Amino acid sequence: EQEVPTGRGKRRLGVMGGTFDPIHHGHLVAASEVAALFHLDEVVFVPTGEPWQKSHKAVSAPEDRYLMTVIATASNPQFSVSRIDIDRGGPTYTIDTLRDLSALNADADLFFITGADALSQILTWRDAEELFGLAHFIGVTRPGHDLTDDGLPKGGVSLVEVPALAISSTDCRGRVAQGDPVWYLVPDGVVRYIDKRQLYRGE
Ligand code: ATP
Ligand code: MG
Repeated sequence: EQEVPTGRGKRRLGVMGGTFDPIHHGHLVAASEVAALFHLDEVVFVPTGEPWQKSHKAVSAPEDRYLMTVIATASNPQFSVSRIDIDRGGPTYTIDTLRDLSALNADADLFFITGADALSQILTWRDAEELFGLAHFIGVTRPGHDLTDDGLPKGGVSLVEVPALAISSTDCRGRVAQGDPVWYLVPDGVVRYIDKRQLYRGE
């Protein structure tokens, strides 16, 4: 049995941060699974501004990543999308995301959802100690990455197994660039949006 932190009477808000370039079914399954396991009222997807981990690479325009995230989540009444990181401008630090979201949602407990690869990087993030006071962290399994809370604060992190989808945005971009299909890796509307906007062609 997974230990589920409870905040009596408080709204339970999941936060799924990502570049979402493009959003794919790995992101959606992780969010859906955590929402069910942790009895979340809502999961807000937060596309990054200009991500510092990836500043050496070209990242698609924030507006394209935002719209793909909206398209992918629109049919789920529990899912929403926030522009806070995009509208803040500049590189996104998760500490800012969580500070802003907790100020905007004073009635809620925050649950930050992150894949095994990102979880293992947390201690390198800005203001790492403060992060755990703002949200409970939920690390989810991801094929090819070890899920561990080594070095992370006890009680601050839960580890959960989600259905394994060996999908990455990097692979999706590479497929589009090579003319290979991304059907069933990303939602249908995202396939069509990528095509309409001619994303990832020149890579
Ligand atoms: P890229 O290849 O561009 O890094 P990505 O597929 O890793 O893209 P991100 O936007 O970087 O997607 O990831 C956002 C969050 O979703 C991260 O916490 C990441 O670990 C998690 N995540 C991404 N893909 C999966 C997956 N297939 N299964 C579980 N978690 C995932
Ligand atoms: Mg990634």
